[in-house]
Amino acid sequence: MKCPFCGSASTQVTDTRENDEGDIIRRRRRCPDCDKRFTTYERIELKLPQVVKKNGSRAEFDRDKLQASMKLALRKRPVNAESVEHALDRIEGRLLSLGEREVQSEKIGELVMRELKRMDKIAYIRFASVYRNFEDAEEFSEVIREVTTPARTKSRTRAGS
Ligand SMILES: [Zn+2]
Repeated sequence: MKCPFCGSASTQVTDTRENDEGDIIRRRRRCPDCDKRFTTYERIELKLPQVVKKNGSRAEFDRDKLQASMKLALRKRPVNAESVEHALDRIEGRLLSLGEREVQSEKIGELVMRELKRMDKIAYIRFASVYRNFEDAEEFSEVIREVTTPARTKSRTRAGS
């Protein structure tokens, strides 16, 4: 880290401390050339990628909006609010781990569908039917098959076709 006073490139760290939460590191530095001291902070940067919509426009990731659409799909289904929060945490975690600055809205839709499929099949169908917009009846029955056919039978059918 360059000295902000004289521009020397050889500053030394004299003290390193973490805050109580352990998410910020504070370093005291000394410049051997001009003997001035300064402090730097190190933080984890957690920034969710921007969402690129189908029409190409961009928007900030909106957890509340995502939660609302999941809750709509889960209406009157036996799934509690806590499970939805955990699902949202997992979705955010996946998005963060992509390490990308942008993500297609389809990708988020897929992540939501994966979570709903695990939580409640009816909610999954509801969400998928709106999300995928079911262009034809064939596509719809494909989704129905996906959620009603046991995994083992499904893979056998796939392998045979
Ligand atoms: Zn200096």
